[in-house]
Amino acid sequence: MADGHHITHYLVTDLAAITRGRGVWDAKGAPLKSGVGWVPVNQIISPFDTIASPNPWGSHGDCRLRTDASTLVELSLAEGPDLRFALCDMAGLDGTDLGLCARSFLRRMIAELEAEGLYILSSFEQEFWLDMPGSGEPTPGFSYQRAIRNEPFGAQIMTLLEQAGVAPEMLLAEFAADQFELTMEPSYGMVSADRAVISREVVRAAVHHAGGSASFCPLRAAGGVGSGVHVHLSLWDRDGQPLLHDPEGTGGLSILGQAFCAGIVRHMPALCALTASSVVSYERLQPHRWSSAYTCMGDRNREATLRICPVVTGGSTPVERQFNVEYRAADATANPYLVLGALIAAGLDGIRSGMTAPPLVNCDPSELPEAELARRGIERLPQSLGEALDRLVADELLCAALGAPLVEAFMIAKRHEIDACAGLDADALCRRYAAIY
Ligand code: GLU
Ligand code: MG
Repeated sequence: MADGHHITHYLVTDLAAITRGRGVWDAKGAPLKSGVGWVPVNQIISPFDTIASPNPWGSHGDCRLRTDASTLVELSLAEGPDLRFALCDMAGLDGTDLGLCARSFLRRMIAELEAEGLYILSSFEQEFWLDMPGSGEPTPGFSYQRAIRNEPFGAQIMTLLEQAGVAPEMLLAEFAADQFELTMEPSYGMVSADRAVISREVVRAAVHHAGGSASFCPLRAAGGVGSGVHVHLSLWDRDGQPLLHDPEGTGGLSILGQAFCAGIVRHMPALCALTASSVVSYERLQPHRWSSAYTCMGDRNREATLRICPVVTGGSTPVERQFNVEYRAADATANPYLVLGALIAAGLDGIRSGMTAPPLVNCDPSELPEAELARRGIERLPQSLGEALDRLVADELLCAALGAPLVEAFMIAKRHEIDACAGLDADALCRRYAAIY
């Protein structure tokens, strides 16, 4: 770094969940810029760096990335570059919401929830593939061998994540070869989505600098175990009291919790477009992989798309303060702001409509006979991105929550992405996406 100066990057995460932006050469100590210029059509660039044509913006138009100073990350990689970046909202030149910004959508959904006196506490649990120089032959799932071969790099990553303010908790060796999982403390509002973005960029930068490669791609080899992003959710009141739990309720859920979960289950097929947003996502969402494949809720069931999580009894933290549910049909090709915003919108629909608890599915739903699935109102999740997009356009509630400009931009971007993958078999799809995410 040149003495007295640094480059500050102003970043936005687009509809393909790629974080892009502009670097500004700043005097050290100078305040953060309130924003930088940007281009509306950038929101719909595909992961393959192609742009759907025609589109409503084309070569015309300018907008601003408006800095959220609370997200500033400043840290130095060991014997490497400094990372200095802040996350931004995308707005018009006059500051108005163009309706294209995923982060602004999440802010709107949080405001709607808070208007009901409800506060969301959430955390994105992220699995990823890590290949470091010298890590050798594949190691057993969950093994200490894998964890220790990754040291001291693992501890360095966690230190960087701590400095980045994302409150890391665990870095664990996962089941599949070369797979790890990062968990972070839960946080209120949009902080968890910011942390998902920040943690991925810090991991990618640190791994690359150390001569390795990291990929958050949902699937690396066809037919194998995937890397998911599991979103843990709970609702709290204004005074910090937990609202999701009632020991007498279905699955330990309060009436409010049952309604919130029922809303999420009701909207699951459409939610998938926003939470499993790429063509390769649907290679992961298969039965028997613990990735989830059916529209259902289960108590401590890893084949259920919405899982009621375990609690520890007899400890110092009361059960109701641990109690949370986990949405499992998400991955890192989905924009975290769309993921959390859409889950809130769906859950809020359940609350406003007074929905009752969906049936608890405590087995692998793919093993239930068709008639039983039908009786319980359970369906297979969409099996392709195209099918998920069709379900999203048909979901009036989610479309209204997103707003017409965001729905239009999302559909254009994602239909273009489908076309760009035409003819690729599952292995080729995995390779193509793994190189990007
Ligand atoms: N790797 C699985 C997935 O694709 C999840 C395994 C787990 O339950 O942690 O989501
Ligand atoms: Mg896991």
